[in-house]
Amino acid sequence: MLRTTAFDAHHPPDQDLIDDCVHCGFCLPTCPTYVLWGEEMDSPRGRIVLMNRGLDPGSDMSAEMVTHFDRCLGCMACVTACPSGVQYDKLIEATRPQVERNHNRSVIERLWRGALFAAFTHPARLRAMVPLLSLYRLSGLKAVVGASGLLDRFPRLGAMERLTPPVSPSAMVRRLPELTEASGDKRARVGLLQGCVQRVFFHQVNEATVRVLAADGFEVVAPASVRCCGALMLHSGYEEKSFALAKKMIRAFEDCDYVAVNAAGCGSSMKDYGHLLRDDPEWSAAARAFSDKVRDVSELLEDFGPVAERHPIHLAIAYHDACHLAHAQGVRHQPRELLRRIPELTLSEPAEWEVCCGSAGIYNLLQPEAGAELGRRKAANLLATKAQAVVAGNPGCTLQITSHLEEQGEEMPVYHPVELLDMSIRGARPPDSSIRRASGGDGAHRAAGRSASAGPGGREGDGGATPEGGAGGVGRRRGKPTGEEKP
Ligand code: SF4
Ligand code: SF4
Repeated sequence: MLRTTAFDAHHPPDQDLIDDCVHCGFCLPTCPTYVLWGEEMDSPRGRIVLMNRGLDPGSDMSAEMVTHFDRCLGCMACVTACPSGVQYDKLIEATRPQVERNHNRSVIERLWRGALFAAFTHPARLRAMVPLLSLYRLSGLKAVVGASGLLDRFPRLGAMERLTPPVSPSAMVRRLPELTEASGDKRARVGLLQGCVQRVFFHQVNEATVRVLAADGFEVVAPASVRCCGALMLHSGYEEKSFALAKKMIRAFEDCDYVAVNAAGCGSSMKDYGHLLRDDPEWSAAARAFSDKVRDVSELLEDFGPVAERHPIHLAIAYHDACHLAHAQGVRHQPRELLRRIPELTLSEPAEWEVCCGSAGIYNLLQPEAGAELGRRKAANLLATKAQAVVAGNPGCTLQITSHLEEQGEEMPVYHPVELLDMSIRGARPPDSSIRRASGGDGAHRAAGRSASAGPGGREGDGGATPEGGAGGVGRRRGKPTGEEKP
């Protein structure tokens, strides 16, 4: 495509949206890369300046520009923080496909990204890897590779190895029923996205989601044929590849009143289909209608209100805000309210709630050093709450947090909110062996309690208020930005 600026003519970043930024800097303390490195060009404000420069006639898509865009996690904490309503989400979503079209990535970079998409967007391929992963752990090969230092030389492979969870061979065969009747009077017909990583590595979350929805009066349709929502590709700028997946998804859930999602990254991209397919005359209306039906499972349950009785769970939890839920979708109040309805559950909030854990789709596999630094920081803040377990609504966050808790020598289960709801409805309790012993520290407070202050970007009263009870952050560390990584 012909270019006279850094960007081609197909949906470059919108000049009007760029001009909304008044350069006040309120977003800076919530931006993970600025928090890590203190570099202006690794802040939302700096990246918006780069986009503006890229629209100048004669400008080029420089390697420096690409580096700063690539380092953005797409966490959208800046969107929550910005008092001027700057739509950085729309700006970076327009910029990423431009980078992929107009910048030549190295062969290694293209191969690595291609391999990640080839594996993570195909549940069947993930399932096929289950016996290999089990063998790797059980045969002692994992220990041998760890001792060899090989993974230190290839940080991306090291990150992949650390993040891969132990999987039971049953992950190869477990399937959800395609139709589950509502218990009692039917309130709505709900389609459930099974997802890719969620379906294979966190099947128990999907099972719990179906049980909770059915118990609260929803008929659940969970078509196995819907492979992937395309979120990983969409958030990485591979727009075209996500179109076909989006269309398949729209068709599969046509007859549903709502589409429920239990993975934050998937939900945020599915709510964006209307925008994504806006140029397609055949699909634009259907895509908009589809996006209007998409709900995070916590939104759906909270909007309709509970039906099934909630039984007590005596457990102290720390709630982790998944960025694609809290910032990209603005869903902060609903999951907390759902958890507060569980008698005896106490909810604490970690310091720096708004700062990403470093997972961000495949960010921790593309920028492993920055991802790991953010993961360590998040784990330390969660541990400081003295909670017995963590609750998070996104599989990527669960993998990242679990890995960094383990790195710090701590065993602390990470639950999805629906897993606790499911236990509460069934009158079950978390296995004693899995929960962390130390509890009830300064950071914990009763679930019904409200925060007294709003953090950077938090808006008091909208459910996004910052927790007051965190036992202190881990401090603003500064370090060097990481460069391009090798697998
Ligand atoms: S808070 Fe908003 S207006 Fe202020 S610098 Fe950040 S993006 Fe720009
Ligand atoms: S999306 Fe996240 S990493 Fe990117 S500029 Fe905004 S706050 Fe920073």
